[in-house]
Formats: sequence, structure tokens, C-alpha cells
Amino acid sequence: MKKLKIAIQKSGRLNEKSVELLKNCGLNFENYKSSLISPVSNFPLEILFLRDDDIPEYVQDGIADLGIVGENVINETEVEVAYLQKLGFGKCSLKIAVPNNNLINSLNDLNGKSIATTYPVILNKFLKSNQIDAEIRTISGSVEISPGLGLSDAICDLVSTGGTLKSNGLVAFADVMSSEAVLIGSKAAEKSALVDELMQRVQSVLRAKETKYVVLNIQKNNLPAILALLPGVKSPTIIPLAEEGWVAVHTVIPEYDFWEKINKLKQAGAQGIVVMPIEKIIL
Ligand code: ATP
Ligand code: ZN
Repeated sequence: MKKLKIAIQKSGRLNEKSVELLKNCGLNFENYKSSLISPVSNFPLEILFLRDDDIPEYVQDGIADLGIVGENVINETEVEVAYLQKLGFGKCSLKIAVPNNNLINSLNDLNGKSIATTYPVILNKFLKSNQIDAEIRTISGSVEISPGLGLSDAICDLVSTGGTLKSNGLVAFADVMSSEAVLIGSKAAEKSALVDELMQRVQSVLRAKETKYVVLNIQKNNLPAILALLPGVKSPTIIPLAEEGWVAVHTVIPEYDFWEKINKLKQAGAQGIVVMPIEKIIL
């Protein structure tokens, strides 16, 4: 059987999470920093370690069947690949920022100004769609220091916490795009049964991340109130406790409204609440 190839970042912000995701999918491989290719021992797959900028083209050209890369890089390289799955990590936004104490406060103020960026394609589209006529200065890195050096009036760069902007005396005022890591595939990969199998594993890992396993104790007479708070669950497991009149409820709770739910469960009489991570959810 022909082996699949998946391209991930060799080192940098997406490397660790990409490796973790693949390992959580039950794939067994060595994360050699020095090699370009690592074979997976228990699945017909090879892992290619590349610079993130090269991943979209490798996938478009079918050299790799799959890739994990930021949406920002895909948009900048303008490749034709299939978006298979958002992965929930590597979240950041591409923003336009200016020095703290200047007179640029709105997009219109950028007319006639210069903007330094490593994302000229995305920025150009953004400026065009907002009818802004600014000069784009494409540089290859350390964009945040360019206003201080007098190289540009503004910058367009990736931001996650905003710490780098702040320490360079910059403030962001416009969002160009938000991005996260995604799993992409070549056109051929979309029809592959092996890719399907891998996708199912990826999705079961992602689903598990979004939910927590919760066990709680409740007096039997409070059980209806608790069950009313758990509508999404097909049938929570209810186990009698040694103490007469008490039961334990086992259920899963989505991460997004986790604390709200837990507080309501407590108010409805839940005690001894134990929360556990889930490794996989297979539907
Ligand atoms: P490479 O050596 O592979 O070219 P790089 O320096 O271009 O690496 P990294 O800085 O490792 O790239 O970032 C990889 C990706 O991580 C980005 O393209 C983006 O999708 C995501 N990311 C998340 N948060 C940030 C951030 N604060 N700054 C930059 N990228 C971020
Ligand atoms: Zn890069």
C-alpha cells in the first residue's frame, strides 16, 4: 500500500502542537529534530518536517498528501488545497499596528502611508477591498521594529497576546484576518480511504479536547434538576452510592460552557464533583 505523507512545521510555533496531535492520534514515530522524514511505525504514513512557508505548495503539488499549517500561510501563498479540518491551535490575528503616539487611528488615515509586512498578498487584498492607497513594504522578518527605524509608518503582522507590539511601542487598530492551524490536503487526498481513517482519528481527538468527563454525587430527590441541566447527553450513567438515597451521575460536559454548567450543577445540589480529561471520543 502506498504510504501517505503529512508535512508539519520542523521547528517553530506549530511544531509541538502538531506532533502532539499526531501522537494523540495513536501514531508512533520519532520526532527527530535533525531529519526531514520520520516514518510512522503503526500506520502507512511518513512525516515530513518542513518550514511552514513551504507546506502549502508541497501539498498543492501532491509531494505531501496532507499538511498542518496556519491559515495565514495558506492565504499568503494562494495555493489550491482542500481545507480538511480546523485544529484549534496556533490561533493568532494578522493586524495593522502603528506607533502609540501618532495620528493614524482609522483605515482612511493609512492613505499615502507605508506599511511594512511579511504578508504582502493578504495585505494588498485587504487594502484594495477597503479602497486604501498605501505603500506596502515587504520585509522578511522583525516587522515590529520597522516604524522605530523609520522604515515604515505602520506594520501588518501576526499578533497573539499583543506583548511584542506593546514592547515595541505599537498599538493595533485594524484586524486583517484571524488564523489558526488547519489540516490541509491535496486534491487526490480528499478521495483517499487512508486519509479518511486519519481524519476520523484527528476528529476523535479534537472532540475529546472540547469535552470533559464529569462525575458527581447527588441526593436522589435532586436528580431531576440535575438531569434537566444535562439535556445534550443521550443518557447519563446513574450509579447508586453505598449511602442510602444518594447516586453518582457520570456525564460529559462541553468545554465552552463548562464553568457555567458546573456552577448550576452545584446550585442544584451536586457534591464531590470530579472532572477528568477525555482522551478520545469515537462516534
Ligand atoms: P518557519 O521557520 O517554519 O518558517 P516561522 O518563523 O515562519 O517558521 P513561526 O513564528 O514558528 O513561523 O509561526 C508559525 C505559525 O504560527 C504562524 O504562521 C501562525 O500561523 C502561527 N502563530 C500563532 N501565534 C503567532 C504569533 N504570535 N506570531 C506569529 N505566528 C503565530
Ligand atoms: Zn515561515
